Amino acid sequence: MRITVIGGGVAGAATALALRRTGAEVTVHEAYQDPAGAVGSFISLAANGLRGLAALGCLPEVQRRGFAVAEQRMWSATGRLLGAMPRGRLAGDTLRSVTLMRGQLVEALRTEAERAGATLRTGQRLTGLTEHADGVRAEFADGSTTEADLLVGADGLWSATRTLLDPAAPGPAYAGLYSVSGRAEGVPGDPSVFNLTFGRSGAFVHLPAPDGSTWWSAQVAAPEPPDLAAVPQADWPDRLAGLYRHEQLPLALLRATTEVHRPTLMHTLPAVPTWHSRRVVLVGDAAHPVGAGQGASMALEDAVVLAQVLQRGGPLAEYDRLRRDRIGRMLKAAAANRDAKTAGPLARRVNDVVLPLFFRHFHDRSTAWLYTHELGVLA
Ligand SMILES: Cc1cc2nc3c(=O)[nH]c(=O)nc-3n(C[C@H](O)[C@H](O)[C@H](O)COP(=O)(O)OP(=O)(O)OC[C@H]3O[C@@H](n4cnc5c(N)ncnc54)[C@H](O)[C@@H]3O)c2cc1C
Repeated sequence: MRITVIGGGVAGAATALALRRTGAEVTVHEAYQDPAGAVGSFISLAANGLRGLAALGCLPEVQRRGFAVAEQRMWSATGRLLGAMPRGRLAGDTLRSVTLMRGQLVEALRTEAERAGATLRTGQRLTGLTEHADGVRAEFADGSTTEADLLVGADGLWSATRTLLDPAAPGPAYAGLYSVSGRAEGVPGDPSVFNLTFGRSGAFVHLPAPDGSTWWSAQVAAPEPPDLAAVPQADWPDRLAGLYRHEQLPLALLRATTEVHRPTLMHTLPAVPTWHSRRVVLVGDAAHPVGAGQGASMALEDAVVLAQVLQRGGPLAEYDRLRRDRIGRMLKAAAANRDAKTAGPLARRVNDVVLPLFFRHFHDRSTAWLYTHELGVLA
């Protein structure tokens, strides 16, 4: 089977690898010329995403490029510990969450996909597609075209495949948050702990890395989307220190920042009704940007499940059926997570009382469905 994959990000590279494992002939078409490299912000992979990598046969390659994080501590704006729990896994799970630069994850997956025999073409932006009786034809902005038996749209939040598949498909909407992240040097902290503070201006994350640096990220609540490009990169630490001045946070981190990553607006996407036709299917953010630190993990799951379905000769409707409920549940959890980050003063006070009880008594019970999901293997 010849398969065209549109987009060489997490979902596209993982899908290419998964499909190669099943013997398909795979070509990835990525809009940008440059390889992913060590650019962008950092992301964390939870136990379910790590199991996806294990099914793809490349868990060690990804673990090597990041660092393991054992524990998560949640803090109120006033500096009260709301809860401590294993990070991205259940208490008994020995598979520790991995944090790494998104670009490093993409690079690892692309390398493994190419090593497995997939072809990667960069500088090719999808602009059109036509399904016909014998296959699907993709058209690119550079005027080139390609034919395949199946086209996988892994082209992210602003997916062209999604709208070509269904012109009435919903588009992204600003989520009321923007994200800025960076790295600081020389500020001591507990190693292997991911700290999340529910601040008045939004959530603030910091986690010490094994090399002595501390990775931080602010998800700032802002009802209207700000013009992020208008703020010089070097001004962000001071700006954030001002925004979070009332919080009990290690603001020394911002003063000790040596690297700021490009800020980004956060978006949500209403449920996408059409994930597939006969020869076209969506994976990753193109189908469902889930948020709550699960987007990459869910993209990895998609890749494995799609390959398994195709391997047993199943129709694309089976992939849709196998993924819908889980993604729907994840979207609900992500909405609650976003609400906690953008909560006003009253809701924050309620959260300060309710969250410790929730974390103590219900964390494992309420997240078991997410972290212990079994994907099975790829032959
Ligand atoms: C600030 C922030 C923090 C995050 N933190 C986490 C986290 O901690 N854990 C987690 O699991 N997830 C996290 N996520 C989400 C995660 O990054 C995404 O869910 C994941 O990258 C989705 O992968 P994707 O391949 O579907 O999309 P993308 O990574 O966006 O990749 C899409 C690819 O398609 C290419 N493309 C786009 N249009 C075209 C076209 N027309 N033709 C060809 N190619 C095209 C793009 O260039 C890109 O390479 C975070 C997201 C953000 C914004």
